[in-house]
Amino acid sequence: MTETPPPPTGSDTPASDAGPLTDLIRRQIRATGPLSVPEFMTLALQHPEHGYYRRQQAIGAAGDFVTAPEISQVFGELLGLWLVQRWIDLGQPGRVSLVELGPGRGTLMADALRAASAMPGFLPAVDLVMVETNPTLQALQAEHLAAYNPRWVEALSAIEPEHPTLVLGNEFLDVLPTAQFAVVQGAWLERLVAVGEDGALGFVLGQPQTPVLPLLPPPADGLFTELMPSLLGFFKDLSALLRPHGGAALFIDYAHDDRAAAWSLQAVREHEKVDPLATPGLADLTTLVDFDAASRFARGVGLSVPKPVSQRDFLLVLGAWQRFEVLAEAAPDDAPELLQSLQRLVGKSHMGERFKAWTCSFPETLPPPAGFPTAEAGPAED
Ligand code: SAH
Repeated sequence: MTETPPPPTGSDTPASDAGPLTDLIRRQIRATGPLSVPEFMTLALQHPEHGYYRRQQAIGAAGDFVTAPEISQVFGELLGLWLVQRWIDLGQPGRVSLVELGPGRGTLMADALRAASAMPGFLPAVDLVMVETNPTLQALQAEHLAAYNPRWVEALSAIEPEHPTLVLGNEFLDVLPTAQFAVVQGAWLERLVAVGEDGALGFVLGQPQTPVLPLLPPPADGLFTELMPSLLGFFKDLSALLRPHGGAALFIDYAHDDRAAAWSLQAVREHEKVDPLATPGLADLTTLVDFDAASRFARGVGLSVPKPVSQRDFLLVLGAWQRFEVLAEAAPDDAPELLQSLQRLVGKSHMGERFKAWTCSFPETLPPPAGFPTAEAGPAED
């Protein structure tokens, strides 16, 4: 299936409103030529001084966007119970590394560990590791998670595989830089960021710069696709962490339906969609996650991967409704608001269908994970 991508957009926002990165990017393009979208995203999100994820306090009602754990405590609680089940599946090891990628304000992990504390032995076993690049968010995480003695690293590859390991990432994969391609006259071209005659940043198609051509489908006219060039390396790092002592990872993200068959780069600032090129460093940039590519790469490095499920099915199978009923009974006045939050998480027109839960694990003999279709049919399901 192909979708027509949006027409190329330019940005004629004056430099003063466009933020300090626009000038820097313009100068770089004039010096060395158009940037690939991953190069542009890396600068916009991770530039040491001006990158969005280095400086912005993005998440929450006062920020640029709201995430599932900020909508309802039920989200983190159910994920916490899922992690406990995985720990039981791993044989209740006395030490387990619990790694969260992009932990935001620390809300998800705080809710997860509060729920998980009901399981004797789990909390004392946890070595909590946060992978976070944003110092402001690190400070918030430190505040919310002080009771659990976390430590911080900047990348998955910095973690030594010392124990069985559980990895969690909600809306983490969607910030990985993404390369975009289109087939023109039988060959893949790459979408690049260039400077127009008027000085504005705009998209053009050019010779591929991101070295992922062997990973793309055969070029057929009219085809569009996108791929995160760091995804293969990411799953190699994940495999190096999970394989020595066993473990599992769970990712939840806004996802392409099946495989990436369209361009999905988008920018959000103060809860509004904006032009991705207009204010680099001031807006969040994301793309849909291609869990089909993730499954191929993860299987390629020896991990077991069931089919992803919708966030709706995942949370409902884990007991979202039952948990809502308990909360609503305890605080009847809050019931309408609680119900609305649950709707936002599982409603088909809200996050329920477009967000997918995806998991992988090692070794193959681990029982099927809760909430995924193979688990429903599997022998270990109770
Ligand atoms: N999981 C959180 C936040 C999602 S937003 C939630 O559900 O609320 C993305 C998070 O990833 C932020 O915490 C951001 O600072 C972090 N992040 C972005 N790029 C990163 C990178 N390259 N490495 C580690 N963390 C990153």
